[in-house]
Order: sequence, then C-alpha cells, then structure tokens
Amino acid sequence: MIPSDDDPNVTEPLPDDDSRPVATVDASVLLSAHGGAAAELIDILGRDARFVGGCVRDMVLGQFGEGDIDIATPLHPRNVTRRLTRANWKAIPVGIEHGTVLAVAPEGGGTFEVTTLREDVETDGRHATVRFTDSWKEDAARRDFTYNAISVDREGYLYDYFGGLEDLEGGYTRFVGNASDRIAEDRLRILRAYRFHARFGLRAWDGATARALAAQAHELQHLSGERIRQEMGKLLVGPNVIAVLKMMASHGVLQHVIPAAPHRFRTDDFGLLDRLMILEDLHDQPGLWRRLAALLHRDQDRMKALAERYRISNRDRDALMALSAQVPAKPLNWALYQDGSGAALDRLLLDAAEMNAPASAGHVHRILCYEPAVLPISGQDALDLGVGPGPLVGQLIRRVEAWWIERDFQPTREDCLWQLSHAIKAEFDLGDR
Ligand code: ATP
Ligand code: MG
Repeated sequence: MIPSDDDPNVTEPLPDDDSRPVATVDASVLLSAHGGAAAELIDILGRDARFVGGCVRDMVLGQFGEGDIDIATPLHPRNVTRRLTRANWKAIPVGIEHGTVLAVAPEGGGTFEVTTLREDVETDGRHATVRFTDSWKEDAARRDFTYNAISVDREGYLYDYFGGLEDLEGGYTRFVGNASDRIAEDRLRILRAYRFHARFGLRAWDGATARALAAQAHELQHLSGERIRQEMGKLLVGPNVIAVLKMMASHGVLQHVIPAAPHRFRTDDFGLLDRLMILEDLHDQPGLWRRLAALLHRDQDRMKALAERYRISNRDRDALMALSAQVPAKPLNWALYQDGSGAALDRLLLDAAEMNAPASAGHVHRILCYEPAVLPISGQDALDLGVGPGPLVGQLIRRVEAWWIERDFQPTREDCLWQLSHAIKAEFDLGDR
C-alpha cells in the first residue's frame, strides 16, 4: 500500500505488517541527540517514526557518538515536508524521488535524514527505482547488512527482521538476503561490506559471501568516483585498516579502487601505510590524505590517477599531490609559512614513515602550535623608504621575507625595516657601480 498524503491531523495507523519488537532498549542517547532535537523530530513525524540504520547499530553497541541520524517513517515525503514546515523546521528535498527529506531544526539545532519507507523495485547496479510502502520489513529488506536493518522507536521498542542483533554480537557481517543478488543490485555494497567488516567483523566471511564479493569486484569500475571516494575515505580512517586492505587485495577488490602500482612497488605492499599509521597513533593525528598518499607509495602518477578517478576537487588534488615523493622537501619553517601546518605535518609524518624513523616530537609540537605568521612589513614600507614603484619593491620585500623566515619569524617590524633599508642600500650601491 502506498501511504496516502493524508490529513496531518489524523494519527496514522500503525504499519500493516505483523512485525513485533524483539527487545526494549533505552533509546535516550538517540532521542537526546542535538540537544533533544531528535526527540522533537520524532514527535513532529508521529509515534510510528523510527530511528534506523547506523545510529541504531551504534547505539546497540554503546558506540553512538556524533554520527548522523537517520529516521524512517511511513509518511509520504510531501507529508513529511508539510509537518516539518508547520513546526518551523526546514525541509530540504535532497532525494525526494527516493523519499528522502533533510530535516533541519530551527536555529542550527541539527540536521537529520528522514526517509519514507520504501522498497526497491528495480536496480541497475547503481541506482534503484523505489516504491513507497507501509511495511517496515520491506524497508529493512532493501538495506545492506542485517545489523544495518535494525530500527527502534521512541519508546525503545527495537525491531530486527533479519537477525541483526545476533550478527552484531557474533561479529558476522551478513547481507540481508542473498549476497550475490544484493551486490548485483548495487556494487557499492562490496566496499561497504569491507568497511563494516573492518569495524564489526570478528568472523571470516562465509564462503558464499566471500565468493560473491570477489566475483563481482570488477563491477566496481562502473561506480562513480564520488561513491568510491566516500566509502574508501571512511574505510581508511576506520579501524583495522591494514587487515581489511590485505583482505581486499587478496579478494581482487583493491585493484579496482586504487590505481595499480608500477613495477617497483606492489599494490598490496602496505608497509609505508603501516608505519605511517603507527606514527599517527603515537601523535594522535590521523589523516586521510596522508594515508592515501602512503597507500599509493607517494607515487605522483598513481596519485594523479586516483584524484581523477575519485573526482576530488582541485584543491584537495593539489593537497594530495603536494605529498608526492617527487615534491622536494623543505625546511620546517618554510613548509609552515608556505604550506600551512596541515601540509607540514603530513610531510613530516610521511617522511619519517618512509625512513622508518620516529617523527621529531619537537617538530610535531611546533607544527601543532604554529600560528600563521604574518610578515610585519609591506611594499608600502619600501615606498616610504624612497624606492620608486615597480618590480623592485616586490623583490626587496621577498628578500626580507626570506631573511625573516630563516630566522623563524622572530625578527620584529623594526628588525625587518632595518633589514629592508640594508637591502635597499645594497641595491643602490650595486646600481651606482
Ligand atoms: P556510518 O556509521 O558510516 O554512517 P551507516 O550504516 O549509517 O554507517 P550510511 O551510509 O549513513 O551508513 O547509511 C545509512 C543506512 O542506509 C545504512 O545503515 C543502511 O541501512 C542503508 N544503506 C546505506 N547505503 C546502502 C546501500 N548501498 N545499500 C543498502 N542499504 C544502504
Ligand atoms: Mg550513517
């Protein structure tokens, strides 16, 4: 049945399926999210709205932190929008044809995804055509893994149609339904499988799942760069990175999501990444671009190919390329001034990992405490000292700037003016000759 665009004053009937809650839990951690805005949203949507997906899974594990909150409802998206607007919330139709409305609480009080219960009618390996439904079980059936298909309502009644709780406890990452079919519907699920397995999987895949993942790995080449980037990004900053990358390599998956290594490296050599992550842990400074650079052995061509494949922005591409081994190293003061503390830390840790040596704690400290330094003189000072307008002004200032950087930004404005007047004098002395 398709939910009607009903009169919002009438309470909707409970969904017409025979599901019963399997447990009662304390859902207050979700209800109190964003200062209680989550509970307010459930009130706006009506008593049969539920939390679904990752937030419920994390809550069950006692790991819910600042993650995103997804809410499902049998209400039609038009009705969701109407109710939100009436309650002074903003409703942004981010994926209305898929039933998704972004609900934004007043005065920056939090953002939530509200999705109408739906079932996938047709899929082409990337996109699904959906039909709205009032069946919670149908909605759960189109979700990827059993533990991502659990839902909980505001009273704490927990619904688990496919044994997600048990799998979570046992450490099994199991597709809802047949692994091979579910992967064929949406190839991104291959990457999601490894990402979630890295987080929650204590047990090896069952044979059928492992075979299905390997058999369809080549289909990843048809996925958009954005979707691959998103999943790989989360995977690389999650737990058990090296173990899961090894598994992806041995299943023939990794080669489809990162550019192949030239002959002097091996795609499944994670030594540099491993050493980098040990240093990052030591200094409590995880970093995605750095990890990607290490995964690609800082090879310029591979980094360029990855930036193109993942369709990363020009700015991020430049930040990544700056980590390549081909870019010459700089003294720390120059790196800080010219590239900023983020890039300086990236290079320091990568260089140390490459040399298999500890990163200097003093340098890390300096980088983390660095406040962008501003040269205390400008071109106007050169003009005031009698230099005529023209390219010489910039040259003189750059000369003083280099002197100031070499001295770790310590010289004061007075020192710099003194240095500038010397530079001017030297220039004119030379010119006189
Ligand atoms: P995370 O902690 O990384 O946010 P999550 O489980 O919340 O994990 P999301 O990508 O935010 O993951 O998706 C929210 C929910 O939507 C999932 O838990 C799952 O139920 C469903 N979902 C997301 N992507 C897919 C997909 N490709 N196929 C099937 N279900 C999906
Ligand atoms: Mg999520």
